[in-house]
Amino acid sequence: MQQPYAKIVVKIGTNVLTRADGSLDITNISHLVDQLATLKKQGTQLVLVSSGAVGAGRELLPAADQLEGVVRRQMLSAIGQVRLMELYRQLFAGHQLLCGQILATKEDFRDRQHYLNMRNCLEAMLHERIVPVLNENDAVAITELMFTDNDELASLVTAMLNADALVILSSVDGLFAGSPNDPNARLIAEVDAEDESVLAHIAPVKSSFGRGGMDTKLRMAQQTARLGADVILANGQRPDILLQVLAGEGPRTRVKARNGVSNVKKWLAHQPDAKGKVFVNAAAKEALLNSQSVNSLLPIGVTHLEGDFQKGDLLRIIGPNKEAIGLGIAQYGAGEAQDCLGKKGQKALVHYDYLVVF
Ligand code: GLU
Repeated sequence: MQQPYAKIVVKIGTNVLTRADGSLDITNISHLVDQLATLKKQGTQLVLVSSGAVGAGRELLPAADQLEGVVRRQMLSAIGQVRLMELYRQLFAGHQLLCGQILATKEDFRDRQHYLNMRNCLEAMLHERIVPVLNENDAVAITELMFTDNDELASLVTAMLNADALVILSSVDGLFAGSPNDPNARLIAEVDAEDESVLAHIAPVKSSFGRGGMDTKLRMAQQTARLGADVILANGQRPDILLQVLAGEGPRTRVKARNGVSNVKKWLAHQPDAKGKVFVNAAAKEALLNSQSVNSLLPIGVTHLEGDFQKGDLLRIIGPNKEAIGLGIAQYGAGEAQDCLGKKGQKALVHYDYLVVF
């Protein structure tokens, strides 16, 4: 049996929460809450990321199908989220547990202050033994700035809370070599965080109601594992699946965590936007990507800069062929950096502790 995880994030996809006709599958939701309550009683700290708001809304207002896409999603999620939370509230209360709702947008993860604020709230809830239930704030999210899907939100929260594992429950058992609908396809039990060859085996299928697909799931899972959490993909419609996979049993795919990644690096790895760009030469690129040694970004390896960044701003690091190499936090502003560009013996523009490479 594997070591129990102290802190986990569980993401439940729309297809696990709804039946084939789109209505909420209250029997299965109730069974999942039973399992979450068992884990909670065993002392596991857990955060739930639940989809299903749009699905629950669709059941309440089938006529919304006439509306235009964005407004339709906004409205359905607004009414469905209430329904979903009411259900969770009742089901958790049956186990003498409180749950609380947090709706997030991608914007909430961009600003470090905002990010820390959200983390404080989640940690306080965990401390009080409350189950945080997160979802994307679909009612206000701007289409271009939405999470790819709730897997992305769950992955961000896993990194944010330094959780030991992220369990992603969908309507398939995990990653298959081939199509999950092919009875001869093999379930891949374990995937390495760095193994890109797995992607080639995954059939490009998408679930019927949720937003994500299996290839984005794998990408997200590997990124999360690289940041230090085990990621387990399993079928949320199977009885007792959550308890089983956390005990190292049952059909699932596990992407194994890499150890020792700092909190700052976890935050950095998920930042979509940078204030400035730093173009580096081949030697600097090689030094930064060298996994055998620890290297900061020195001005001598910088060929040119873009953007009026200040100390503390996020920089995108770009290689000689315009390839993105990584992200880092500027130790000083663009003016000072310009003065020491290409020169020897200067202070690092990005210190190793504030640097992530892709
Ligand atoms: N936030 C959406 C919902 O609650 C689901 C997004 C997804 O499919 O991952 O309906």
